[in-house]
Amino acid sequence: MKIALLEDELSQAETLVAQLKENGHDCEHFETGKSFLYSVLHNSYDLLILDWQLPDIEGTEVLRQVRAEMNWRVPVLFLTQRDSEADIITALDAGADDYLVKPARIGELTARINALSRRLGTEQAEQEELEIGPYVINLSKRTIISSGEEVSLTDKDFDLAVFMFQNIGRLLSRDFLLERVWGISSNINTRTVDTHVSRLRRKLNIKPENGFRIKTIYQHGYRLERGGD
Ligand code: CA
Repeated sequence: MKIALLEDELSQAETLVAQLKENGHDCEHFETGKSFLYSVLHNSYDLLILDWQLPDIEGTEVLRQVRAEMNWRVPVLFLTQRDSEADIITALDAGADDYLVKPARIGELTARINALSRRLGTEQAEQEELEIGPYVINLSKRTIISSGEEVSLTDKDFDLAVFMFQNIGRLLSRDFLLERVWGISSNINTRTVDTHVSRLRRKLNIKPENGFRIKTIYQHGYRLERGGD
């Protein structure tokens, strides 16, 4: 998973990043609430880990801004020294999905990360057919019906469409799409993404009249949004 970690204690952060990497996660670390927020709102992370006490903004305020400004409900785990029941309630009420008290035991942290990721994945995997606006996506037959007519798509176009419809409202960077849809980790072929996205937009007639639009986020990527106007 692609994880963003907000932690102002450098040694703690380094240990965590190394441990998470060992467990197969790709973890980026930020020391201030401000730099964390900027990156999180302009990139595609699967999970956020937040410290509470920070030099600039409190972790709970960072969370509030994430929930207010991001259209996609990214899983958030609090990792903090604060261990009172009142603190835990405050964080969960503010929209955190899980809470761990420092020092984190890496086995437990990994298990909780996996649980959050499963929760996210299974909500989508259970359905074989997704009916979204004028689109009917059949995951086993690999077909998409748009306004009653089947659309002819290449394998990659289909995978891209499914990924975008499973991540409505989420900012999807070109690198992230290459990694998740094409299985490529380099950022050499980002033009490939542009070509496929524009073809998808045309073939599926993704436009406000059909209840959706693919918004291009300058220099960052794309976001499939609901809304006709
Ligand atoms: Ca701290």
